Amino acid sequence: MAHSRSIVVSMRLAHRVRLDPTPAQQEYFRRACGVARFVYNWALAEWQRQYAAGGKPSEAALRKQLNALKGKQYPWMREVTKNAPQQAVKNLGRAYANFFEDLAKHRRGELPWKRLRFPTFKKKGRHDSFRADNGPDKHHADAVRTDGKRVRLPIVGWVAMREGVRFAGRILSATISRTADGWYASFAIEMEYQPDPRSDDTVIGVDLGITALATLSDGSKVFAPKPLRRYLQKLKRLSRSLARKQRGSCNRAKAKTKLARLYRRIADIRTDVLHKLTTSLTQYRTIVIEDLNVAGMLANRTLARAIADVGFFEFRRQLQYKAAMAGSTIVVVDRWFPSSKLCSACGAKNDALMLSERMWTCAACGTSHDRDVNAARNLARYADSSPASACGAEGTGREDDFAVKPAA
Ligand SMILES: [Zn+2]
Repeated sequence: MAHSRSIVVSMRLAHRVRLDPTPAQQEYFRRACGVARFVYNWALAEWQRQYAAGGKPSEAALRKQLNALKGKQYPWMREVTKNAPQQAVKNLGRAYANFFEDLAKHRRGELPWKRLRFPTFKKKGRHDSFRADNGPDKHHADAVRTDGKRVRLPIVGWVAMREGVRFAGRILSATISRTADGWYASFAIEMEYQPDPRSDDTVIGVDLGITALATLSDGSKVFAPKPLRRYLQKLKRLSRSLARKQRGSCNRAKAKTKLARLYRRIADIRTDVLHKLTTSLTQYRTIVIEDLNVAGMLANRTLARAIADVGFFEFRRQLQYKAAMAGSTIVVVDRWFPSSKLCSACGAKNDALMLSERMWTCAACGTSHDRDVNAARNLARYADSSPASACGAEGTGREDDFAVKPAA
């Protein structure tokens, strides 16, 4: 299909990079975070005041109001990038939009009152962040840019990064944030690409799990690297010890920082493993995955399990954009499809199969199965048996463009 060569699609991607700021740059970051927090709290108080007085507060009006008075009342705001206060008011607008959305759901009886996301005042040291933008106006077209090893930010200049930005594209913004172990920049990047027109019809089924991170329908398994398993043990130990420490004590604060660092390290290793996996999967034209009930899984599982589940979000996020660029299609199988219980050799269903049974033999045809490999094969066959995959519904890497098919 020659005409598809000319199609250019754009998508937004994100990448979070650890920074190595100098002490002076850290000081600036702290100040910019302080401005963002101050403005957010100012806007929230102002919103509440205007609302109580019978007014109709809005994010746009609050930004105008702030611009009019900041020169005289808050001249120190000029010391940091002007994006910091602007974005803070926008964030508050977003928080109210979320709240009104929840409120509407509550009125329809879909959400209990205590689950509503009320905008709250920000405290120092909690989710400290500010944003620097490459706005639409051309004077600031490249206020934020990178040269591979460093990022240039307004006012503060070049800041060292621990790794390069993963995607080549236009940087829209960088949000600088602080966690227990240091400073990070989250880049929003707009990337244009030409989907690769493919003519092969290769299919791979992917079964995600805990023992093996992923089992593929070709029989191969991807395991978590050894350090990850060791860290997970350590994580259990640390969280137990944190629970024993007295609230507000110095030891508790130390244990908390340690725990946050460990979480970070685990997340980094996991992301790295997932990148290798998702990249290798895009060699297939069709990738079949299960639609897991993530909300249900998160509700009542152990810590290790919860971390594995977070990996599932990340897996899907990566797979979406990589598949879009490689011209692969993702097929999401309905979560009621009994991928584990069907015999991938003869199609008979084994209703008696227990979750603990890792190996089983089909009573109908006598084939012995590795539970996960069998599930992955059923997923691959699910795509094969469906006419939609034959004509190749194009995935574009957007959530709503997932080819979702009902269970057979
Ligand atoms: Zn069988």
